[in-house]
Amino acid sequence: MSERIVELEGVVKRYAGGVQALKGVDLVIGRGELTAIVGPSGTGKSTLLHMIGTLDRPSEGTVRIAGHEVAGLTDRELSALRARHIGFVFQQFHLAVGVSALDNVADGILYSGAGLGERRERARAALERVGLGKRVTHRPHELSGGEQQRVAVARAVVGEPDLLLADEPTGNLDSAAGAEVLELLEGMHGTGTTIAIITHDMEVAGRAPRRVRMRDGAIMVEVR
Ligand code: ADP
Repeated sequence: MSERIVELEGVVKRYAGGVQALKGVDLVIGRGELTAIVGPSGTGKSTLLHMIGTLDRPSEGTVRIAGHEVAGLTDRELSALRARHIGFVFQQFHLAVGVSALDNVADGILYSGAGLGERRERARAALERVGLGKRVTHRPHELSGGEQQRVAVARAVVGEPDLLLADEPTGNLDSAAGAEVLELLEGMHGTGTTIAIITHDMEVAGRAPRRVRMRDGAIMVEVR
């Protein structure tokens, strides 16, 4: 089978207070896949995103990202792993206020140690890739919601991560802008980017080639 970017085995997550948000999840995402993780609110999707994104550690089970097992890493090593291997897109864009699109994207590879000139060059190419080559000097408030989300996608992919992890990427957009962002992600999948989208948007889920449906902290059914 293809190279495994994400490998979860028997992942259990308990929160303080006794809530068991994940009840033993097994999930493999291979390089080049576009997977939608769907399910109603409260079923553990965000918790799963935190596990895949290495933003939190499991209570039991193993999480491996690009071959690295999370349990063996210090917090510092974990943030380095995250910076190198995972690009995040959130519902609320999370762009820096008052900072140009170019520098918002250039900040996505701060960890690389490259100088500002090189980072800006790569940021410009990433903005062209998302169709915003003519908006590089615009600041977030000078862009539409759909454009802001495209900047966020550019920032997520500028470092060429192994995985693009999107949490409700269309949740804050009207349907036209949401469709554009979805098309953008589909285009990136078409050129080889591995993508996992967490969503309860049925339109988004319906178009994904692979769907993992969560229920009550477990994977209920998977459709390919
Ligand atoms: P979803 O993203 O599908 O809405 P979540 O992963 O956010 O689901 O939540 C799954 C369950 O875990 C819910 O019952 C929620 O209340 C609980 N939960 C989530 N985060 C925490 C937390 N930090 N502390 C305690 N319980 C939590």
